Amino acid sequence: MTARYNGGIMRNEPQKTICLDHQCEEDQATPFGMVCPVCKRRLYTSPPRGNLMSFWESQPVAFSLDREPCFAYSLMWENYRIRSIHLPEQNVSAHESSSVESHS
Ligand SMILES: [Zn+2]
Repeated sequence: MTARYNGGIMRNEPQKTICLDHQCEEDQATPFGMVCPVCKRRLYTSPPRGNLMSFWESQPVAFSLDREPCFAYSLMWENYRIRSIHLPEQNVSAHESSSVESHS
């Protein structure tokens, strides 16, 4: 048995989301929540009109390697829509911790 020390890295991030239209990670904070850099630029350079509706889509848009369903969240204005896919969290951390191992 080998005990693993992961270096004490504190991760306090919310769930990782990817913009479905632009295929980028949503890491930009806006008044509407986290969006991708392209969507943020669009929101600031030409703000969408109409009421904002936000909702979870009822059907999963993808499945992870563990066959976990990935659902999309929509932010919808009259003339613009942002769809983001939410990745299952355990997937991300499991992937990262497997690379933390030293042989010194
Ligand atoms: Zn985007």
